[in-house]
Amino acid sequence: MPKIAVYAGHGGSDYGAVANGVYEKDINLAISNAVSDILRRRGYDVLNNRTTDVNRNITRDAKMANDWGADALLEIHLNSNAGTPGSGTEMLYSIKDTGKGRQFAQACLDNITALGFADRGIRTQLNENGQDEFGILRLTNMPAVLAETAFINNPSDLQKLNVYSAAEAYANAVTRVFPAGGASSPPPSSGGGTGIRGIQNTLNERYGLGLTADGVAGPQTRAGLIKGLQIELNRQFGRNLTVDGKFGPATRAATVNVRPGARGNLTYLIQAALYLKGYTVTPDGIFGTQTEAAVKSFQRSAGLSTDGIAGPATQAALFRQS
Ligand SMILES: [Zn+2]
Repeated sequence: MPKIAVYAGHGGSDYGAVANGVYEKDINLAISNAVSDILRRRGYDVLNNRTTDVNRNITRDAKMANDWGADALLEIHLNSNAGTPGSGTEMLYSIKDTGKGRQFAQACLDNITALGFADRGIRTQLNENGQDEFGILRLTNMPAVLAETAFINNPSDLQKLNVYSAAEAYANAVTRVFPAGGASSPPPSSGGGTGIRGIQNTLNERYGLGLTADGVAGPQTRAGLIKGLQIELNRQFGRNLTVDGKFGPATRAATVNVRPGARGNLTYLIQAALYLKGYTVTPDGIFGTQTEAAVKSFQRSAGLSTDGIAGPATQAALFRQS
């Protein structure tokens, strides 16, 4: 199986670019974790430089990928600029590249621009010594891409950016250039998509549910959300729930409070449930102000206390099949 290093740019005290209260390091991490999940599900060996908000060290991270013998490396970033915000996506690869890195960069670019981001191309960027300017490209020896996914300081880019769609786009680029298990392996899932179809694809990718991605919020998809919730509670909190897609007393008792500021798969499932009920929310796994407003609005309509926290009562009302 190919060995893929999936790295998140910045971290800890290094926020990367900051715009509109959003930190680059956080989005980089969310995408990197989601790409890693998808690739592992497809059978890849995946190496991460970080899976939480900790400091990173480029020299150490580069050595780690070299020592591990990575077949490819992808490092996730967001772009930023001064003045009028730029827009779109660009991919950097190493001047040392002999072909595969360029091919990988092009595949990443193709898949991210397919999500609607402007095409800024693929390129190398060199320092005054004619070496790669970016350390992770300069210090590693496998095909490597530093991905500038979109502009964090451009509200339109940021609004368009869905963590899981971007992650699927990157994972599909990996699979295209570094196929899992060689030519006989199945093609990557059609993946991605927005709206209900995007949620169905994401549930299939993450939990292997085999939902029909028909864009219809029917009982199958609602049960899929509950299965996802049960799987996450089992994985993250050791709950031992039966994964039956039914929100009964055991599932309710196993829930955890999901609050503003939370990030991850539980937040995603709550967002998806809100989306299916018609609330304005972008399922991106980040519990920001839009999600908080949607939770409060849902709580109000369900006659619950409007604290903006998805606790047991809110989750019961949100997930339970009518
Ligand atoms: Zn960056």
